[in-house]
Amino acid sequence: MTTKKKNSVSKKLWKLGINEFNTQYFDWNKDGDLNIKEGHNIYNVRYLVEKFGTSLQILMPFIIEERLEDLMDLANNTIKKVNYQGKFLYHYPMKVNQTREVVMALVGEGAHLETSSYTELYLVKKMLEQDKFNPDIRILCSGPKNDAYLSLIDELQHKGVKIFPLIEGPSELKMLQHSKYNVGIRLDMPVKASSYWNKQVDRFGFSAKEIYDMGSFKNLKILHYHIGSQIEKSGDILTPIKYALDVYFKLKKTNPSLDTLDIGGGMPIPYTRERGFNIDKLMEKIFTLLKTEAEKHEMPHPNLICEWGRYVVAPAQMTIFKVIDTKKVHKTKKDDKKWYVIDGSFMNDLCDTWSVDQKWSIVPVNNKNDDDLGEVWFAGSTCDSDDFYKGKDGSVRFPKYDYSEINNNPMYIAVLDTGAYQDALAMNHCLVARPQRIIVENGHIVLARKRLSPDEIGRQLGWYNK
Ligand SMILES: *Cc1c(COP(=O)(O)O)cnc(C)c1O
Repeated sequence: MTTKKKNSVSKKLWKLGINEFNTQYFDWNKDGDLNIKEGHNIYNVRYLVEKFGTSLQILMPFIIEERLEDLMDLANNTIKKVNYQGKFLYHYPMKVNQTREVVMALVGEGAHLETSSYTELYLVKKMLEQDKFNPDIRILCSGPKNDAYLSLIDELQHKGVKIFPLIEGPSELKMLQHSKYNVGIRLDMPVKASSYWNKQVDRFGFSAKEIYDMGSFKNLKILHYHIGSQIEKSGDILTPIKYALDVYFKLKKTNPSLDTLDIGGGMPIPYTRERGFNIDKLMEKIFTLLKTEAEKHEMPHPNLICEWGRYVVAPAQMTIFKVIDTKKVHKTKKDDKKWYVIDGSFMNDLCDTWSVDQKWSIVPVNNKNDDDLGEVWFAGSTCDSDDFYKGKDGSVRFPKYDYSEINNNPMYIAVLDTGAYQDALAMNHCLVARPQRIIVENGHIVLARKRLSPDEIGRQLGWYNK
């Protein structure tokens, strides 16, 4: 069999090397080892795993930089193409991944920020104090605001930071409606989209009617909404924009300072590799809609903020586990599925597997054999019966492997697109230690988070404290 043919099997089965699936950075070498490609730098994932051990997160900031650059270029080219008069601003929602290198990579490419809590804003303040962030960076503050959050916002406003609290409830409204600083307000969107997170009852923000009844603000700049994550139909992104624009133009009559529409997050990732999402067409539709509506209302074109977090960050990390045992699935007699037990946990380390039935693309790091595949269920290392992953079609097709090979030829697996949310949601069930994290960039490999020792974990639980 020629190598060419082998490659095409890999592409078909595991969808590596395909831009549409954000896998253009990954490939196997001729020995069947998974490689990460950063321009001319190549990282052999099996070597990394042998050096740093498993479980292991590999963060690739160059992917984040490239994705944001592409997104901003696309938006700016679309603005030119449709002759749009407003600006495009990307705000990175920090809650998606607060790792320093992730935030620094984004800010370095021109991202503004959005914080969801006091602690996130505190970290931003620290970076501003150390001159690590451009003082012109714009910061949106969402989430319910306790006293600490409010007073930090106030402190930064006094220092001249470009900060915009997004008002989410009546108490915040009372405090901020007549603030001499800029504010935004959150609209509770009655238009629903098909996404796991789009609940029937939304507790965020105000209805359009409530907003009309508020009268005017001193400095209202932004109308904001966020309806959910991983919104897979482009219509479900466009319909809410149309609704929000109606509110925006009505509101602008009483609040002429209003100049920006913030459409929140939601741009999806093709986790299941069934289809990609055509963001080029969508961007053009968004700006055309904004322009047409503005002209219909004889109003200036609004600036557009988007907060697509998952979209930019998810593909920039993979999580690697070692298969430490294999066993038969005892379900039906003729069932020849096998459990592959990993040395980490879906529940702990990839929590969305458990909480929202997240699907993943899992690829072999080594021992890749396209010709000898079996039906596999993956089991995590906690004692929890919920700690497993069965794929999207009832099982995962994966190279055959048996525990007897563990010493001379261990098998490692890579879960792709794990950069968004999983880390902040991670748990500590059974005290299975969290993955170690390394960062690969510019040909360098840096250990960014050590695996905690049993002593360190014990100390957090009061074991060695008098
Ligand atoms: C979570 C969140 C986002 C990010 O959503 P993604 O689906 O990751 O793009 C953006 N804005 C707000 C207000 C959020 O709460």
